[in-house]
Amino acid sequence: MTARPKYLFATTVLLASPGVLVAIVLSVAGHLDPWIGLLAVVCIPLGVMAIVYRPLRRLGEIEREIERLSASPPEGQTTRPTIDESGPIGDIASAVTRLERNWGRDRKQLRDSLQAAQVLFDALPDPLVTLDGQARLVYANATARELLVGRNGVRDLARRDLSAVMRQPALLKAVDDVLNGNTMRTVELTFADRIDQTFEARVEPIVAKTPGDDDARALILMRDVTALRRGEQMRADFVANVSHELRTPLTSLVGFIETLRGPARGDTKAQDRFLNLMESQSTRMTRIVNDLLSLSRIEMNEHTIPRDEVPLKQIIATVADLLAPQARKRDVTIELDLDALTDPVIGHPDELTQLFQNLIENAIKYGGSGSKVRVEARLTGDIAAISVIDQGEGIAREHIPRLTERFYRVDTARSRELGGTGLGLAIVKHIANRHRGELTIRSEQGKGSSFTITLRLTPQSSQ
Ligand code: ADP
Repeated sequence: MTARPKYLFATTVLLASPGVLVAIVLSVAGHLDPWIGLLAVVCIPLGVMAIVYRPLRRLGEIEREIERLSASPPEGQTTRPTIDESGPIGDIASAVTRLERNWGRDRKQLRDSLQAAQVLFDALPDPLVTLDGQARLVYANATARELLVGRNGVRDLARRDLSAVMRQPALLKAVDDVLNGNTMRTVELTFADRIDQTFEARVEPIVAKTPGDDDARALILMRDVTALRRGEQMRADFVANVSHELRTPLTSLVGFIETLRGPARGDTKAQDRFLNLMESQSTRMTRIVNDLLSLSRIEMNEHTIPRDEVPLKQIIATVADLLAPQARKRDVTIELDLDALTDPVIGHPDELTQLFQNLIENAIKYGGSGSKVRVEARLTGDIAAISVIDQGEGIAREHIPRLTERFYRVDTARSRELGGTGLGLAIVKHIANRHRGELTIRSEQGKGSSFTITLRLTPQSSQ
């Protein structure tokens, strides 16, 4: 590689001119032989050229090296050896080598951090995008890409207007506000093709010390709040249902008290009748409150599996004895076929008692006068399936999936008349869940229904 001619010429002229001038002046003044003067005029530039040629060539090389670096910055740690060159140019050359090495290392660190951040953002379960000052997409994580690519025909998200991908006026307004200097904004949105899903989008400003035109200026983090909103709705419905269920007997009680104080005052017969009615309304409220308490207790423990050995055969027999008077009153016979249950099951004795009490009581209530209620157990490996079968009217197919919802009844008036709270099957379902058992409801209208629950036998008995 050679030194650049224009620099070589300029430097030679600059450095040689004083010497050449002195030679010319001395020759003209007669202090120097003209031939020697001429020789000096030729030799001084040649000598200067010979001296500056090498440093200039090295400077040229360094310049080209710097240009190469700025055109294609080093990727990773370079292995270029340190330059062993003395003098100021040698120092510059080694400084450039050091710069290249450090720059490469920093770029590698930066790229690694970026990659790590990318992996982290991609692993986020929530969609995240960043936008530049003109509300164009700068970055979208994997979840956001999944949600947005293909929406409104957009295939490539890079630098697309947010309005082209998400036609959500509330979100666009929030982004506009944030890009115009406002603080964080939160909006809720649903997509036309995912109406059952609700997202909460948080728009936040990204503040950089020296923002560039293409830099991210705002961030949108979307959170799927469907389950949260559904939970809130369920809670609100539940409170409304509980209030409604308790208000009806309470209103009756207030009415009876007023009657006892007013028109029935002094009428002992009427007083007796009203006191009986008041007792049945109070019992109803007590039943509702007890069922609610059971439900919340079971729900609280739903994540821990009960581990006791439960003699289920005896438990069901006791429940049947307990409900025998109720069955007799309705002319219902209870039939037990539990010979398969020779071994205990794993569970919680009180909860399993409550489960079978609710199922057998329902079978008696809805089985109809003169009918039979059968409780039978069948074994498959270490799983026992216990069915409570009645000969009642049965349940229409559309009601079956909803029977275990709290306060869901096929016929509310009939359920109330029979002393039902609408919580019995919800309790059964939760107890089954806690025992990791399955509840199957089968019903044929006009023939009857069967409620089957599966439970695991104790380990030693299945061997
Ligand atoms: P309830 O206190 O009203 O009986 P449950 O939660 O036990 O509440 O049952 C919910 C509804 O399911 C009942 O209101 C009834 O309509 C229906 N149901 C439950 N068991 C039976 C059954 N064995 N036969 C017919 N319908 C039933």
